[in-house]
Amino acid sequence: MVTLVRTTQELNDIRSKETRPVGFVPTMGNLHQGHISLLERALTEYEVVYFSIFVNPKQFGPNEDFNRYPRTLEQDINLIEELTKRFPKKEVVVYSPKDPQEVFPESKNQNVSVLGLSTMLEGKIRPGHFDGVATVVYRLFELMKPTSAYFGLKDFQQYLVIRQMVKDLQMPIKIVGMPIIREAEGLALSSRNQYLSPEQKSTSLLISRTLKEITKTINNKRANLSQAQTFISTLLKDPNWNYLEMRDAETLSEDISHSKQITILAVYQMGTTRLLDNTQVEIE
Ligand code: AMP
Repeated sequence: MVTLVRTTQELNDIRSKETRPVGFVPTMGNLHQGHISLLERALTEYEVVYFSIFVNPKQFGPNEDFNRYPRTLEQDINLIEELTKRFPKKEVVVYSPKDPQEVFPESKNQNVSVLGLSTMLEGKIRPGHFDGVATVVYRLFELMKPTSAYFGLKDFQQYLVIRQMVKDLQMPIKIVGMPIIREAEGLALSSRNQYLSPEQKSTSLLISRTLKEITKTINNKRANLSQAQTFISTLLKDPNWNYLEMRDAETLSEDISHSKQITILAVYQMGTTRLLDNTQVEIE
């Protein structure tokens, strides 16, 4: 059963009556199989799952795509209903606030900032972005009171920021990181992929291919990291890479000389669209 609520008052009414543990999936909507994979996992673990669809103004910069970000509530509900047919005994509560004021009645008064992790890489290019993310997720956690919350590793830095926030504030919430869902040819699914022209879409395959090539060069061996770094340096002659970097997968530190797991984080600029991808590599 899927219940749609459009106000925080309605949400609070439903949540206050719930006695079972709750799983939670936060999204900005325009759902695709990446989002659905998070919901599916949550439904396998919980009788009731709260699912938010909220395009959060706090995480967009002044010249970003907040206004044109795709909002497709009806289509999103259909996808959720389709999936829940496979879980006939489970319940999904979709919270899609009709106005940002439902989430932030006093918008300017709160800010949650996870220092360090939030100002590097994606946070350096998008100042304030991760404060916006942490602030909304904190607020949504407060409303949903989940036992577990599900995040895609597609947004790897976001996942680390949320994990750190929960740890630092001792919030009793398990953060579950879920694998990246890709198109058959490799492009990571994203609501922003629909901004791409057919030509851009075929060019965009180079992102996942590049990550695979670097992974192959490393071949899980520390001794190969310098060769991988040289390879990356040649790739960076293409100015469309906003960044393409190997970092420690726990801390995002640039020093990977002792890392057991590294992450290769990539953002490729395709016209006005920025495409994010990453992969994890174990180091022996
Ligand atoms: P968004 O609506 O883009 O804010 O994403 C909501 C959640 O879905 C985040 O935890 C994302 O990391 C996750 N997500 C988005 N795209 C994918 C994907 N291709 N595979 C797995 N998770 C994803």
